[in-house]
Amino acid sequence: MKTSVTGFPRIGKLRELKFAEEKYFRKDISEEDLFKVASVLKKEHWEYMRDAGIDLIPSNDFSFYDNVLDTAFMLNVIPKRYSKLKEHAGITDTDVYLAMARGYQGEAGDVSALAMKKWFNTNYHYIVPEFEDDASVKVRENKALNEFNEAFSYGIKTKPCIIGPFTFLKLAKGTGTKSSFDFRDDVVNCYVQIIKELKAAGAEWIQLDEPSLVCDLTDDEIKIFLHIYEKIVSEKDGIKILLNTYFGDVRDCYRELISLDVEGIGLDLIEGKKSQELIKSYGFPKDKLLFAGIINGKNVRKCNYKRTIDTLVNIREQAGEVVISTSCSLLHVPYTLKYEDNIAEEIKNGMSFALEKLDELHELAVLVEKNDPGIEPVYIKNGSAFEKSFAGNIQEVRAAVDALTDDDFTRRPERKAREIIQRERLGLPFLPTTTIGSFPQTAEVKANRSAYRKGEITKEEYDKNVYAFIRDCIKLQEETGLDVLVHGEYERNDMVEFFGENLEGFTFTRKAWVQSYGTRCVKPPVITGDIRRRGSITRDYIKYAQDQTEKPVKGMLTGPVTILNWSFPREDISLRDSAYQIALAIRQEAEELEASGIGIIQIDEAALREKLPLRREDRYSEYLDWAIKAFRLCHSGLKPDTQVHTHMCYSEFSDIIRDIDDMDADVISFEASRSDLKILESLRENDFQTQVGPGVYDIHSPRVPSVEEIRSALGRILEKTDKNKVWVNPDCGLKTRGTEETVKSLKNMVEAAKKMR
Ligand code: GLN
Ligand code: ZN
Repeated sequence: MKTSVTGFPRIGKLRELKFAEEKYFRKDISEEDLFKVASVLKKEHWEYMRDAGIDLIPSNDFSFYDNVLDTAFMLNVIPKRYSKLKEHAGITDTDVYLAMARGYQGEAGDVSALAMKKWFNTNYHYIVPEFEDDASVKVRENKALNEFNEAFSYGIKTKPCIIGPFTFLKLAKGTGTKSSFDFRDDVVNCYVQIIKELKAAGAEWIQLDEPSLVCDLTDDEIKIFLHIYEKIVSEKDGIKILLNTYFGDVRDCYRELISLDVEGIGLDLIEGKKSQELIKSYGFPKDKLLFAGIINGKNVRKCNYKRTIDTLVNIREQAGEVVISTSCSLLHVPYTLKYEDNIAEEIKNGMSFALEKLDELHELAVLVEKNDPGIEPVYIKNGSAFEKSFAGNIQEVRAAVDALTDDDFTRRPERKAREIIQRERLGLPFLPTTTIGSFPQTAEVKANRSAYRKGEITKEEYDKNVYAFIRDCIKLQEETGLDVLVHGEYERNDMVEFFGENLEGFTFTRKAWVQSYGTRCVKPPVITGDIRRRGSITRDYIKYAQDQTEKPVKGMLTGPVTILNWSFPREDISLRDSAYQIALAIRQEAEELEASGIGIIQIDEAALREKLPLRREDRYSEYLDWAIKAFRLCHSGLKPDTQVHTHMCYSEFSDIIRDIDDMDADVISFEASRSDLKILESLRENDFQTQVGPGVYDIHSPRVPSVEEIRSALGRILEKTDKNKVWVNPDCGLKTRGTEETVKSLKNMVEAAKKMR
């Protein structure tokens, strides 16, 4: 069997690309230096795959920021406010590209960034391309060709990967009177040109990624999809096309898909619950290759060879020739276990990151051809990884979850009654101002953490510094005039990691970074056992902050669904049970904060929307039924005068608004500034009851919003929302920002709120 990789991570095994890019942002290195770092990384990644014996190695999976943005840039889908920057001397294509990604404020102009959205059901974010009515779609520069040639210059013939035209159009939006699909013909012509140029350069295969096909599609959309591909295959000029899907199954267009004249079809056998059933029911044409996505591109568990070989053999019987592939791009797992010298051997034995997954692909390809794979040493070794249980079982935790009843998920009295009690206690002004929790992680904050990690300072010295940061942060917020303060989250490296470190059942990595957006990476913990609180986690820090001020300080916790979604989950117990275990721990934490006098507690569910099943029919049974309950379990035991906040990082929840309301929080803040406050409309339509803080400015960009800008955002919010229910806040935590821009932005925000009052 041949092997194929859908995509490889690009940030670098030690985040080399991140650091180089951030230097470039600060103008510490030149564009040429940045490009050099990129070339070294691309070469390294291709060589890894070549050396692991991978047959179909991806190219054009590299990106300085995001592949969807790359595609827009390649097709000249560049709104004029960005292309205009180039009229100013010294602004390069790279600067224009980065302006689209991060906004630009400087001599050449002042523009905010394009919207950013979560990439299907992952924690990766893509940039939303914008088609203006007069967009002139053309191949500006064939990036896929450049990277194919680059790899070829090292003697490596790759399989160029491009976001497919259907998915590209579906994710993009029109900003004028036209929709992105109105540009369909121009876009398809560009793809045809790109493909022809690749063919001429010697490419044998090209991979078109169409993850949109695993979502619910209308009949019209399926027609558009078919129309696009009929055109592409009619002009493909002898190149082999892999039409690749991932993150689910293609249940509503499988038959159409297999009837297309393409040479390969990629199906996800991990998340695609119905993929095998589809192959079985409708067959698979013998003249095509099935790319079986069976190495999990999202989790860090070792692949179970026995099970996988059985499946592969089975599929081969039905589908004919099969290529073993990753279930999706390896972008969503860390690089390598090589640096993880901190993990217990038996736990590490059960894990596999991107580089190890390459070996798994290769080993499987060899094993599946053997008559008796069971006698092969690699097979036996693999089996032994599964014999030892991953999990530390804690009987008491299991029993607590089993004993949960409806009462444990219900807070009393109901929200309306609580609102009155809380207003009385808190006495906040109309349009109260607050932040989402974290403040800039300055060099001193990071140095403190790193000194502690390296054992250069004691826990006492570390905490002394953290308390000093908290004190300053409270002072700063009082000076800024905010109404509800936060402690700043200086003790946290990451909102999930921090909690995970204080809970039993989590395993931590040293270098297992995964890209979240642009240069931002996260290091998700791995859940390896039952979960229990070791002791008090946040109380001392929050209480200290509250002692510094008369104003209310919000206690800051991370919610169970987010902790679960931003960790690598277990595969031996259900997600629901893991979520309830975490919720019970967070519940103890919330009750402890309440008992020490904290009147407002925020339980962040930044990642709640992320794992929502892509298909409507799976939403409740596979997810919402337990996810919403897990949140409620955290706060149902709190007193009526404790105000519960939650926060979500996106506002893409129009279709689950009732479920969000059903979390029964008292206040919710969410990202809205990058998505034109569209969510407000749905909130009104659905008679949303929770008080709301739609983010009034974008914290993902270093731009300082003016008072006027924020006032106008607030104006639009007040037009559409019950004004007594509105809070004023930025759209997410401030930890990735610099202090100077943060102070300016917050002052403008407070000023705008005062004017509106
Ligand atoms: N409280 C967290 C912070 O402010 C929330 C972060 C997030 O939503 N991702 O950083
Ligand atoms: Zn957020």
